[in-house]
Amino acid sequence: MPSRDLPESHEAPSVPTVRLSWPGGSPLTSPGQTHSSETDAVGSSPGGVRGVGRPVEPWNQPDPDRLVIHTGQRQALWERLVLGVFIAVPFLALLCALPIAWVVGWVTWLDIALAAGMYGVCMHGVTIGYHRCFTHGAFKPIRPLKIALAIAGSLAIEGAVNTWVGDHRKHHKFSDRAGDPHSPWRYGNNVRALAKGLVYAHVGWLFEAEQSDKSAYIPDLIRDKDMVRISKAFPALLTISLLLPPLVGALVTRSWIGAATAFLWGTLVRLGLVHHVSWSINSICHAIGERPFASRDRAGNVAWLAVLSMGESWHNLHHADPTCARHGVLPGQLDSSARIIRWFEQLGWASDVRWPKPARLAAKRAP
Ligand SMILES: [Zn+2]
Ligand SMILES: [Zn+2]
Repeated sequence: MPSRDLPESHEAPSVPTVRLSWPGGSPLTSPGQTHSSETDAVGSSPGGVRGVGRPVEPWNQPDPDRLVIHTGQRQALWERLVLGVFIAVPFLALLCALPIAWVVGWVTWLDIALAAGMYGVCMHGVTIGYHRCFTHGAFKPIRPLKIALAIAGSLAIEGAVNTWVGDHRKHHKFSDRAGDPHSPWRYGNNVRALAKGLVYAHVGWLFEAEQSDKSAYIPDLIRDKDMVRISKAFPALLTISLLLPPLVGALVTRSWIGAATAFLWGTLVRLGLVHHVSWSINSICHAIGERPFASRDRAGNVAWLAVLSMGESWHNLHHADPTCARHGVLPGQLDSSARIIRWFEQLGWASDVRWPKPARLAAKRAP
């Protein structure tokens, strides 16, 4: 597979230092060493294999060295209530759709096609656009592709693009340590703490009143007028994501019942699956899985999630080499997102693609 040579640094867009206080110094840095974007930039692993095989410091214990992050942004109660509706209703639909289809017959081939088509578009919008391109700079898209990817990712209803990227860059900066927005190891290492942490990493973190200061993590996106505009258009894109399947269902079948079943499958079931597969990367893939590559956190490769997550569940490699365009780098590891990036490259729509190189991968192998 043709690819360009990777630069030695291989780093994502730089992230300025966040306002941090380190009373007594950091438990993960040597005395006197400061924690800054230079030593801990998004996309790099300056700590090498630190953290591999080490217990993660629990968040809930009094720790004089604990990282305190001052963000000053809060999520209002009404925002969290709306968020709860957007999460709970698709989840209930995901649980109930098959029994409903079995008993009442509420499913058609059109519904399944709408659900699968919308799932593919918005999941790849997140994996290729939000994640590999905008967060990690794994390739450079031409402007129409950049806009299309940002819109497709917005249809997943996982938040506006700039918010999502801010959260995810923060996740890489502090992965499985204090400051990580969603680590399953947040409450400790025993079984009970891990169970609680899994729920928090999967969905609980979204409801935190205190939000990270996104602007500190996304200076490049704030400078990009297209991305700012698409972020501001998120409520409109959310509405399109909700209404497009029932509209198509109504137009094709010319019936209300056609609109209703298209809404059940193409909107609700599709969103429920998109949400929980995406969030499983934050929860399951940071708790279990193979770790063939050295990363400074608990990110693992989970094979059974690979197809539904469009290759994102090869999460160990991703944390070992965050800007790599392909996450499934080992033989037999399916990664549809990487395949589509390759098509974009062949069409001339993507350039500077950071494809994996054997020598680079060998250097990142776990000891
Ligand atoms: Zn991760
Ligand atoms: Zn990432």
